[in-house]
Amino acid sequence: MGNYRIAVLPGDGIGKEVTSGAVEVLKAVGIRFGHEFAFEYGLIGGAAIDEAGTPLPEETLRLCQQSDAVLLGAVGGPKWDDNPPHLRPEKGLLAIRKQLDLYANLRPVVCYDSLVSASPLKPDLVQGVDFVIVRELTGGIYFGQPSGRVVENGEERAVDTLLYKKEEIERIVRMAFMLARGRKKKVTSVDKANVLSSSRLWREVAEEVAKEFPDVTLEHMLVDNAAMQLIRAPKQFDVIVTENMFGDILSDEASMLSGSLGMLPSASLSASGPSLYEPVHGSAPDIAGMNKANPIAAILSAAMMLRLSFGLTAEAEAVEHAVWQALDQGLRTADLAPSGGRIVSTNEMVEEIKAAV
Ligand code: ATP
Ligand code: MG
Repeated sequence: MGNYRIAVLPGDGIGKEVTSGAVEVLKAVGIRFGHEFAFEYGLIGGAAIDEAGTPLPEETLRLCQQSDAVLLGAVGGPKWDDNPPHLRPEKGLLAIRKQLDLYANLRPVVCYDSLVSASPLKPDLVQGVDFVIVRELTGGIYFGQPSGRVVENGEERAVDTLLYKKEEIERIVRMAFMLARGRKKKVTSVDKANVLSSSRLWREVAEEVAKEFPDVTLEHMLVDNAAMQLIRAPKQFDVIVTENMFGDILSDEASMLSGSLGMLPSASLSASGPSLYEPVHGSAPDIAGMNKANPIAAILSAAMMLRLSFGLTAEAEAVEHAVWQALDQGLRTADLAPSGGRIVSTNEMVEEIKAAV
């Protein structure tokens, strides 16, 4: 039975409440399956600014680097909105992504049968939706140089550069194919190859990598069409792989298919060290400290950690089944109210899922 060191960075707002719920559920997994999980806590975001004067203290980074995986809550809140740029909570998040080399962001989008009516889309359209978006996280237009604003001869200009190295595309596309192998064996590579050189390279590399995976089907889709298809016929997708900015936009769009932000987990995988797991949602200052937040996104993020960082498949499934069971029994946090059921607090939801594990 394994020993695992988990760095827990609750952050701000509901980040604290939902990570504490996820830790409770992981403890239950440890008891049931006989694993030793050691939880060590670090500061990040606004909490770190208040206590250590920086959004990502050295100590937190070291803690993460010495751990087997990182569980993060959320950062930010109105308290720090007027801070200067280097003292914004979000800086902590960008810094940790860079420092841990978290190049692949995985966002599963699943619409549970009992929650179809929580989605703003028609029930028959979203029922059965089950795909993963694989977003490249450390390259592309958010990092390419040159980038900035210049005034030349009195004329104001701004530039950003969409740059990808072949190896950066290769590793993210390969990750997508490996995932697809364990799923419905279909990869949709999203690009803008009719206009962008970086997308033409992306497409070529995707074709090359595909040769290593003859059992998986590869299709290419232009990003504008993908934005439409996600709403028109979302069930056609299995694994979507795309560059940083397209992935940013498409994954927010796709989040609405599952009904609530409070349901969506994510994993950010590292090339070299520990990977990081966090709910897709933010710190939700409007409901922070009210015992109302939906802890499921954080709990499902912990399940992804069990599966992807520790290879504990049965344990991950036990957590997922416990979540389904709680939903099937009609338990709903307030954000899921449109789908009926009985409204419960964060703690009650956590207790129920723990008990089911
Ligand atoms: P960020 O900038 O950190 O991404 P955001 O502005 O996108 O944050 P969130 O903090 O994710 O916003 O919250 C958006 C809305 O969704 C809020 O009204 C919040 O109450 C609700 N919300 C987000 N997460 C949850 C959750 N886990 N449970 C219930 N409601 C949530
Ligand atoms: Mg947001």
